Amino acid sequence: MFDIHSHLNFIAFEKDYAEIIGRSFNNGIKGIINIGSNLETSKKAIKIAHEFFNKKIYATVGLHPIYINDEKFNLKKYQQIAKDSKVKAIGEIGLDYYRISDIKTQNLQKTLFLKQLNLAKKSNLPIILHCRGNQERPLKAYEEMLDILKKYPNLTGVIHCFEANWKIAEQFLYSNFLISFTGIITFSDNEKIKEVIKKIPLDKILTDTDCPYLTPKPFRGKRNEPLYVKYIIQKIAEIKQINFKKIDQATTQNAMKLFKI
Ligand SMILES: [Zn+2]
Repeated sequence: MFDIHSHLNFIAFEKDYAEIIGRSFNNGIKGIINIGSNLETSKKAIKIAHEFFNKKIYATVGLHPIYINDEKFNLKKYQQIAKDSKVKAIGEIGLDYYRISDIKTQNLQKTLFLKQLNLAKKSNLPIILHCRGNQERPLKAYEEMLDILKKYPNLTGVIHCFEANWKIAEQFLYSNFLISFTGIITFSDNEKIKEVIKKIPLDKILTDTDCPYLTPKPFRGKRNEPLYVKYIIQKIAEIKQINFKKIDQATTQNAMKLFKI
């Protein structure tokens, strides 16, 4: 079991992240990647990774599109921290059009995204993609992201918390990206996502909790944590009709390979 996208660096875990890391590794978690969403949380992710230097706990650095108006992106500062030995990717970066329909803000997000793709290219690191559409046009953000990624054929990485259809999934796979699923897949039976999970090859799947958010069933509504990645693997196993162990092994191996662990 590998949680490729957690936020133990967030305030929700300020008091007990060490305890949570302890029980994760004692109960079968093989690795955790804490994801930065701005400069402060990126630095915190690195700090936690070093506190547990002998464990497979890593960090990513990046500015999330929702913080476009809260932080001015400073390339030099991110470039600097990206050099840390515990940093395994640039992220989470991407496009988030949820509740944002004005083109101006969407364009600002695209500019920020491009800057960070260049950072990933220069740092020679994979990327963690965040993509969310709005209700009127749920696929627009995905389509625009794919268009941008075409200009970076040498980049690789993962799109986390995937919520689009198989047609979009195929294009990410074709562009050399893996696809990761969160606890959302346990909430209800969404035929589109089920189709993606059924069709996706085993060597292209990853799992992420996005904790403290998106807690899977049966703990929905409570604070999420890396250990609950188990319920996501269980759901994937059920949909693919492959046993738990195989999905567990595949997702763990895929994470180690992608992040060069
Ligand atoms: Zn996240």
